Amino acid sequence: MYLYCKNCGWEQDDFWDKNYNPLKSLIDWQETLLDFDKLDRKKRYEVDRDSVIYRTPREMVTLYCEEAIRKIKNQVFLTFDDVKNEEYKCPNCFNHLDID
Ligand SMILES: [Zn+2]
Repeated sequence: MYLYCKNCGWEQDDFWDKNYNPLKSLIDWQETLLDFDKLDRKKRYEVDRDSVIYRTPREMVTLYCEEAIRKIKNQVFLTFDDVKNEEYKCPNCFNHLDID
């Protein structure tokens, strides 16, 4: 579920649980971080369907850690019940939130 505000651009990608949270996604990078011979060799990463970047595995792990920190700091609604309790109002501009 994706929450967003058409008025100010505020967004939140999903709610957290034991199987889905910012820390869970970092576990996938554990093997990469421990592959010391390749840690500083640039390689190609497809970040989405239309974008490719060239970074070292160390840089990629760092980017994903920073992204997890940003998500943890900014998460407003932890569950869907939290959204219902706030009556779908944007925490930034109090506009109605849309949900996909
Ligand atoms: Zn807003």
